[in-house]
Amino acid sequence: MINFSNVTMVYRSGCEALKNIDLSIARGEFAFVIGPSGSGKSTMIKLIMKEEEPTGGELFVNGQDIRDIHRYETPYFRRKIGVVFQDFKLLKNKTAYQNVAFALRMTNTKPRQIRKMVPQLLSVVGLLDKSNEYPAEMSGGEQQRVALARAIAHNPDLLIADEPTGNLDPDTSLEIMNLIYKINQMGTTVLVATHDKTIVDAFRQRVIVLHDGRVVRDVPEGRYGV
Ligand code: ADP
Repeated sequence: MINFSNVTMVYRSGCEALKNIDLSIARGEFAFVIGPSGSGKSTMIKLIMKEEEPTGGELFVNGQDIRDIHRYETPYFRRKIGVVFQDFKLLKNKTAYQNVAFALRMTNTKPRQIRKMVPQLLSVVGLLDKSNEYPAEMSGGEQQRVALARAIAHNPDLLIADEPTGNLDPDTSLEIMNLIYKINQMGTTVLVATHDKTIVDAFRQRVIVLHDGRVVRDVPEGRYGV
């Protein structure tokens, strides 16, 4: 699904954010990426989404060499990757329903199909009863559920969650992670960048540790600490 081969990323500033990364994440896998601030987690995500190009090595995502994806193909490539963020990034002037519907409309999904799919997606995240509420009327956990419904709207091969529980209390964090786990169980490869020790220790999945741009630990069924 994701294959880093001797990947290096040096920003124009000269900052070496990733150094000789060798890493494979198989289809269907669930992996946490942890590491201190500045260790390269976001850069890794940006490379996977082709928001930045590696300055060295080879990166394959979903069977494609990232360098071979042309500019005009990038939106189609990204459609197969769902993303959620710490700050949810919902459209504030749209309801839960409209936020999900908007993502589908952007890809020319037919209105009839959208009317069928949105309730199904909101139902997967347990939020059907809040369809008509605006982000400001929802709790953080509910907003993250909407963001997850939107992220899986195009049935992505890969779900990337960048600090998904960063703004949530411990109980809500666990609920959101259970949902992400459920999405993984339905067949989507999942990559979660996090600082949340409790979550990592509770789920016992693969843990990839970055430090200063290098992978310093990569263990199955790992914990946050050594
Ligand atoms: P993390 O997500 O683990 O906090 P980042 O990938 O954001 O780490 O950052 C890794 C390193 O790359 C840091 O030293 C950071 O300052 C640098 N960096 C990140 N983005 C840029 C950028 N756009 N331009 C220059 N340097 C950057």
